[in-house]
This record gives sequence, C-alpha cells and structure tokens, in this order.
Amino acid sequence: MRPDEVLKEIAEQTTTCTRCKLHFSRKNAVPGAGNPNTSIMFIGEGPGFHENEQGLPFVGAAGRFLDELLEQAGLTREKVFITNVVKCRPPGNRDPQSEELEACKHYLDRQIAAINPDVIVTLGRISMSYFVSNGKISSIHGRHYWSNGRMVVPMYHPAAALHQPSLRSVVKEDFANLPELIETAQKSRQENPNLISKSQENTDDAQDDHFTEQLSLF
Ligand code: URA
Repeated sequence: MRPDEVLKEIAEQTTTCTRCKLHFSRKNAVPGAGNPNTSIMFIGEGPGFHENEQGLPFVGAAGRFLDELLEQAGLTREKVFITNVVKCRPPGNRDPQSEELEACKHYLDRQIAAINPDVIVTLGRISMSYFVSNGKISSIHGRHYWSNGRMVVPMYHPAAALHQPSLRSVVKEDFANLPELIETAQKSRQENPNLISKSQENTDDAQDDHFTEQLSLF
C-alpha cells in the first residue's frame, strides 16, 4: 500500500477505536495530518480541547507557535507530517497513561513505517520517552539521536514555551538548527540506504518493534 493509503486506513481506524478508555470522551480522533511523502515527522503528546473539536493536530495556541517555529526552519504543515503519541484527547489535558500509550502505539508505529521519515522531531517529554527511555528533556532538547536508522530530535513542547516564556528563545534556537540536522539525516540515509531494519519497513511487524532498544547516541 502507498503511504497515503496506509495513513488513510489508520485515520479511519482511529475514529472507531476502542483500544483504551480515551474513546469514551472522544469527540474526534486526531490521527495526524500533513504530507504522506514527507521525510520529516513531528510527534506531539496528545490532542487538546481544540484538536478534539476539529480532529486536527496542533490547532490551538501551541499550534500557532509551532507554525511559527516551522516557518523559521523553512517548513510548512504541507511539507511535514504532524501527529501525536495518542490519537484521542486525555481528559483535562492530563498526560497520557501508560496503557493508553501502549494501546495507541499500534497506530504510531504503522504511521512511522508508512512515512519512513529520515527525521522524527519529538515535541515534549512524553513523545521523547517513546524513543529515548532515560532522557531528560531539559538536558537533551535539540540534540540528535539515531533510532533504528532514523534521526530523532527531542524538542520542548511548544506549549511549554507558552507557559514558561524563558523557554521561547531556547525552542526557537533548537528549531533554527533543524535544517542542518535534516540535511545530515538525509545524507546519512543516502549513504547508508539499509539503515532501516526490515521490520520497520513492514507495517505489520512495526508494532512489535522497540525503538528505544536500538537507540544510540550519534
Ligand atoms: N498538544 C499536543 O501535544 N498535540 C496536539 O495536537 C495539540 C497540543
């Protein structure tokens, strides 16, 4: 199946998903949006109030700041794919719980396998933990890691910068370095086309992969 077909199938599945209790309060699932043929994925934590209303990722205040950051990196929403680790809103915007993350992993892993990005930018602590098991966002933000042949760049969540204005310039600086990191990742993939393990190319097997086990500091 083509990436757009896989993403469409996943999006349809999330609208009727009952794998975890988040579906009880769901108005709209938020599977993600953007370019299925991109090489850059952004992964946030989970939908908030506005996202649950509209079924689209990052449409509130944090989303407006994300647009600004993307523009600064020479990117637009049409050039990248944006999703979250959980596709339904945790009530009151609480952190997603481990069983919710586990239930939704199935969708995210298949999205990653379908898009096959060179670079994954994690937004916030929760999505960072998906790839970097013992990382502390305050020490590793803006640095790059390799996870199963893909570059992973943990960033602060844009909402964190809205709540803590001193982080604004830090986040901006990290995003300013993104074009260079993207270039490095793309060069590395071109030079080593077999970096992605076979299981990551196979959407059926992807859900069983544990990215963090293969993580290494570049
Ligand atoms: N915060 C997130 O992590 N994701 C969204 O989609 C919106 C806000």
